[in-house]
Amino acid sequence: MKKRYFIYLIAILLFVLFIPQETSYSWGFYGHKQINKMAVFTLPYEMIGFYKKHIDYITNHAVDPDKRRYTMKNEAPRHYIDLEHYGHNALDSIPKIWERAVEKYSEDTLMAYGIVPWQIEKHYINLIYAFKNESLNEILRYSSELGHYLADAHVPLHTTENYNGQLTDQHGIHGFWESRIPELKGTTYDYFVGKAKYIDSPSETAWKIVKDSHLAVDSVLRFEKALHKEFPMDQKYSYETKAASLQKVYSLEYTNRYNMMLNGQVERRMRESIIMLGSFWYTAWIVAGKPNLDKLKDKIESDTLKIDQPNLEVLPQNIILKNNNGHED
Ligand SMILES: [Zn+2]
Repeated sequence: MKKRYFIYLIAILLFVLFIPQETSYSWGFYGHKQINKMAVFTLPYEMIGFYKKHIDYITNHAVDPDKRRYTMKNEAPRHYIDLEHYGHNALDSIPKIWERAVEKYSEDTLMAYGIVPWQIEKHYINLIYAFKNESLNEILRYSSELGHYLADAHVPLHTTENYNGQLTDQHGIHGFWESRIPELKGTTYDYFVGKAKYIDSPSETAWKIVKDSHLAVDSVLRFEKALHKEFPMDQKYSYETKAASLQKVYSLEYTNRYNMMLNGQVERRMRESIIMLGSFWYTAWIVAGKPNLDKLKDKIESDTLKIDQPNLEVLPQNIILKNNNGHED
């Protein structure tokens, strides 16, 4: 009996030790919440009082779009775009106006390879209407969620079909870059990024963000590949207790080395996400005619916001994701 018990114990231990690394959420919960929260401090005095009052809501709901990826089948493509599908000059070939892109590639294709830049524009427009209607709940909802999609677009691996290094034998790099590094190094980052600015063309800006992210894909993958080759294999991973289970994670030393090679890239993309989010909020508010947000201060925010309102559902229902699981690890 004792021997059998011992074998069970070993089996359980092995199972726990080889649980795959933490599920990869875009930017991780830490990164998304931090980006939304710090964007509040970029706002001008006409806006900052309102956003500060609701800063907990804006922060906590930064991750709503990731939470509903599993319950809404057309949510996943909103978080990324696989540019390689559209060839070497993808950013020149893809029409930036949704209807033109549908004409050229079909809606099914666009949905299959991800739509993050159009989703940013869509949520930005929804936010303008929320301001115009002076709807507290909608302002909060679209402000928070716009932060999510904007932050995702700043992540290099959200712009490539090799989104988790699965094509280059670097499985796990997605969560490594956007979750592990910010969680370990994020407390040392400088989150004060200056004042929000008016954006002349939100659509073009969304595409510019995607372009900059895509240009960084090469270094994200290449540096990790080089580090993997020279780093002692038995020190690459360590184990940490997370959510009451022991998980395999990239070791602190490996993370530090990779972060040094990236030369502040993760911090830079987080900082750019913050200033961009503040600027999108600010622009939407101006375009909406600068409604007086102080009038809204007394209303109580509701946590029972409908997560999926019909006006968001312009997207087709039967999506076939070409990367099988919509960039989920
Ligand atoms: Zn996401």
